[in-house]
Amino acid sequence: KQSVDELKNQSPQAEKNPCVSILLPLPFKDTYDYLVPASLPLIPGMIVTVEFGQRHLNGVVWSVGKTPDVPVSKLKYISGIVEGFSLSPENLEFLKWVSSYTMSPLGTILKMMMSVPEVFTPLKRPAPQRIFPAPDPSFNPPLLEPQQIEAVAFLKSQFSRGYSVTLLDGVTGSGKTEVYLEALKECFLKKQQILILLPQISLAPQIAQRFERRFGVSPTLWHSSLTKAQRRESWKQIHSGQAQAIIGARSSLFLPYANLGMIVVDEEHDPAYKQEEGVIYQARDLAVARAYLEKISCLLASATPSLETLYNCESEKYQRIQLKSRYGVAEIPAIQIIDLRQLSARKEKKYWISAPLATHLKETIAAGEQALIYLNRRGYAPLTLCGSCGTKLQCPYCSAWLVNHLKHGKFICHHCGHNVSVSKTCQECGAEESWVCCGPGVERIAEELAERFPSFRTTIISSDIIEDADAMAQIAEKIHNHDIDIIIGTQMIAKGHHFPNLTLVGIIDADLGLSGGDLRASEKTYQALHQVAGRAGREEKTGHVYLQTYAPEHPVLMSLLSGDRETFIAQEMESRERGDMPPFTRLASLIFSSRHREAVELTAQTFARNAPRSQDILVLGPSPAPLAVVRGKYRWRMLVQTPRTISIQSVIHQWMKQVKIPTNVKVKIDIDPYSF
Ligand code: ADP
Ligand code: ZN
Repeated sequence: KQSVDELKNQSPQAEKNPCVSILLPLPFKDTYDYLVPASLPLIPGMIVTVEFGQRHLNGVVWSVGKTPDVPVSKLKYISGIVEGFSLSPENLEFLKWVSSYTMSPLGTILKMMMSVPEVFTPLKRPAPQRIFPAPDPSFNPPLLEPQQIEAVAFLKSQFSRGYSVTLLDGVTGSGKTEVYLEALKECFLKKQQILILLPQISLAPQIAQRFERRFGVSPTLWHSSLTKAQRRESWKQIHSGQAQAIIGARSSLFLPYANLGMIVVDEEHDPAYKQEEGVIYQARDLAVARAYLEKISCLLASATPSLETLYNCESEKYQRIQLKSRYGVAEIPAIQIIDLRQLSARKEKKYWISAPLATHLKETIAAGEQALIYLNRRGYAPLTLCGSCGTKLQCPYCSAWLVNHLKHGKFICHHCGHNVSVSKTCQECGAEESWVCCGPGVERIAEELAERFPSFRTTIISSDIIEDADAMAQIAEKIHNHDIDIIIGTQMIAKGHHFPNLTLVGIIDADLGLSGGDLRASEKTYQALHQVAGRAGREEKTGHVYLQTYAPEHPVLMSLLSGDRETFIAQEMESRERGDMPPFTRLASLIFSSRHREAVELTAQTFARNAPRSQDILVLGPSPAPLAVVRGKYRWRMLVQTPRTISIQSVIHQWMKQVKIPTNVKVKIDIDPYSF
C-alpha cells in the first residue's frame, strides 16, 4: 500500500492532480479544497486526514473534481485516507438536510455525526472488543392479542413500501413496546439495523431488558454518559453494521448507520425530543426526515400523540393504527378530582398532600400496594425569601429564582447551574434562620410524608437525584422488589415505566403548567398528566388517580376525567387553527443574546425594521425573551409565522442577509419552537 506522499511524487504537477473539497467537523458552512494524487481516486463520503492550520483533522470528502477557488499552487495535498471508514450517501444526504432545516453550518452537523473526534485514532489501551451477536428473530416470541396482531401485520406491510410513517396510537399499557419489538423482527431477518429513540435515557434499561428477553441479545445503548472508549467502539460497530439494534437518546439519530431498516420514536409527543442547546432540533421530526432519506419505515408511538403528528395523520401524510385497550385484564385507571377550594374553605388544607389523598395513600400501602406522588418540580421549594427583609433569592446571572435543594445543601439555579451553599444568615439584612420557603418541590413532599407517615418507605425520583441510566435501573429494581412504598417523582418517572404493583397516582398540583403565556400549555399538561395517570394499575389490580386542583372546571382536567381525548384534541386543534398557530402554520423564533444589553436590543430592533413584508408572513416582537437573562446574557426574541407552503428557512435566510449582526450579539434560530 502506498502512502499519499509516494503517490503525489509520481505525478508531480499539481495541475494534473484533482482537487477535492473536504468538509471538516468545525462550525463552518464551507468546505475546503485539497489536492489528491491523480492515482488515488476518492469518492464523496470517504474520510481523510488533512492539515488545517496547525492541526491535523479528519474530514469527509464532500465533492470531487471541482475547479478550485484559489490557484492550485496554494493548495495542500490531503495527508491520508482513513481506511475502512466512509459516510454513506444516505448519511451525507441527512447531514445536508439537517443543516438546511436547522439553518446550522454543515461542519457543525458533521461534528455531531463524528461524535468523538478521535474515533479513528488508535487508542493507547483499546477498549475490550465487545461482540455484537445478531438478534435472533425467533428467540422468544410473545403471544400477541388480536389488536396487537393486527398492528404488527400493518407495520410489517409497511416494510415493502420504502418510506412511510405510522403513528401507533395506543393507550398506556396497551403493549405498544411489544408490538414494535415484534415488527422489528423483519429488519433482523434482512440483516438491517434498527434504531429505537427514547426521550430520556433513563427509560433505556427496561426497554433493553425487554429487547433482550425477546431477541436473546442486548442492544447497543447510545447516550451522553458513555465513556470515550465505549463511544468509539459503538460508533464503529454502528458504522460497520455489526451493531444491529441501537437504543438511544436523540443524539443517536446522527450516527453513521450502515444499513438502517426502521426507526421507532417512542413517546413521540415528549418535550425532551426538542434539543434546545447548540443546534436546535426536534428529534422526532428529524427521525421522519431520516426515514424519508433512507426510504424506510418510521414508527411514532404514544398514548398522547402530539398535535403535529395527529395533524399529519389527518392530512394523510402519516398513517395511524390504534390499540384501544390495555393488555390483558388491566383496566384504564379511574381519575378523580380533589377540589382544593372546598378543602380550603373548610380550613382543612394544612398539608401539600390533602386529607382525602392521604387517606387513599394509607389504604393503598395497607393493601400492600405502591403509590406514586407526582410533582414536576425538583428540589425543596421553587422560591425562598428572607422572612425578615423580604429579599427573594435570585440567580445573579439569570432572571430566575434559586431553588433550594436539601439533598445538595444548596440553592441552585435551574438555568445556569449557579449554586450557593445554604447559609443561616440573610446576606441583605443579617437575620438568622429567617428563610421562608414558598411552594413545594419533591423534596418537600418527601419531608411531609416522613413527618406524617414515618413507616412508609419513600424515594425521590428526579433528574438531580437519579443521574444516569444505571441509577434509574437500580431504583427501578428496588421498586419492583417492593423495597419502596411511595415514589415521589417529577416528569422523569411519569412515562414509560411499568410497575405492576403500583395502583395509586396522586398529582399534587394539576394546575401547574396550565397558567402562563405558552400556547402549548394545554397540550403539554394534558400529555403529562395523562402519562403519569397511565402508571397506575397496569396489571390485575385496578389503578386510581387523584388530581389536586383549584380549577376543576378547566377543559384539560375535564377531559382527563371523562377520558374523552378526542374531544380535547378537536377543541385544541380548533383553537390552534383559529389562532393561525402550528400545526396549521409554520413558526420560528429568533433569539438574540449578548452580554451587552443595548447591543442586543439594538440588533433586535434592526431586525424588526428589516422584517419581511408580505401579507403571508407575520412577524411578532421584538420583546424580551421569556427568560430575559440567562447566564449573564440578555435575551430578546422575535417570532415569525408563515403558511405551511412557504419555506420559513428561506424567509429567515433572506431576512438575515439584510442585517449586519454585530460580533457581540448571537442570533439563534429555533425552527418549530416548542414553547411559544
Ligand atoms: P405500552 O408501551 O403501550 O405502555 P407495554 O408494551 O409496556 O405497553 O405493555 C404493558 C405490559 O403488558 C408490559 O408488562 C408488557 O410486558 C405486557 N404485555 C403487553 N403485550 C404483551 C403480550 N402480548 N404478551 C405478554 N405480555 C404483554
Ligand atoms: Zn442562573
